Amino acid sequence: MTNTGPDVGFATLTGLIGVSGTKDGQDAEGHRDLRDPEVSPSDAPTTTTHLSDEQTAAHQALVDEWNEKLDGASAEEILDWVNQHVTGTVAVTMSMQDTVLAELTEGRVHDAEMVFLDTGYHFDETLDVARDVDARYSLPLRTVEPVYSVKKQDEVYGRDLYKRSPTACCRMRKVEPLARMLNPYEAWISGVKRVDSALRKDTPILDVDRTGRLKINPIAAWTDQDVEDYIESHDLIIHPLTTQGYPSIGCATCTMPVAPGEDPRSGRWANSSKTECGLHL
Ligand code: SF4
Repeated sequence: MTNTGPDVGFATLTGLIGVSGTKDGQDAEGHRDLRDPEVSPSDAPTTTTHLSDEQTAAHQALVDEWNEKLDGASAEEILDWVNQHVTGTVAVTMSMQDTVLAELTEGRVHDAEMVFLDTGYHFDETLDVARDVDARYSLPLRTVEPVYSVKKQDEVYGRDLYKRSPTACCRMRKVEPLARMLNPYEAWISGVKRVDSALRKDTPILDVDRTGRLKINPIAAWTDQDVEDYIESHDLIIHPLTTQGYPSIGCATCTMPVAPGEDPRSGRWANSSKTECGLHL
């Protein structure tokens, strides 16, 4: 398994792969240079379409009225609330590290779909869990992929972009596909927890994202022990690597095992200052 190196700048990258370009990703004639890791493939949108002002305002009103009231509620009560108050289809984001959100949402939020980002760099075990999830739950599972395969990304940006610029790699393989994926949905459910990191310690139960969509974090207040207890008591699908020293699982290329007692997320982008892929910022 290869670990990520530090995020390096454009000048270093062009030196490494032998191309020339400018910081805004254009060559001397003004053509976009896809070899610049700051420039995404142009075949698909990179951002989510904004909801209307009316929908955004309606979501903000829900947050204002309910966020504090739901803060002490159970995850099940929060999702029952979603079923009663959200009129459009809800996306349930699944990393496949665990299947808690699928279990909580199944039979509780009736207009919901599970979505899974297949970055092309997942562990085989993660893809096995995705297949098992699809078989176990009646919620539809939508798999979303980046514009470029790993092979194509290597050809265009140079091999192993994740080693040189994990931020650019995450942008093209996670953040932008998620942005496109969210277009049909009015709201999305995430498994972010306040204990995950300092950046997430103030995660609200309800939020309005930058596109006006309602973001629901039903297990924001859970501890890691709460997750373990729920998995055991509901006999959930177990990602095998979670029992082999990988408490936080992302792409195989950027995830290292963690010693007992260490920060569970310290195995993600280890030896790099990066701590978030950007999906939840
Ligand atoms: S976590 Fe995945 S998408 Fe992000 S830099 Fe690593 S390989 Fe790329």
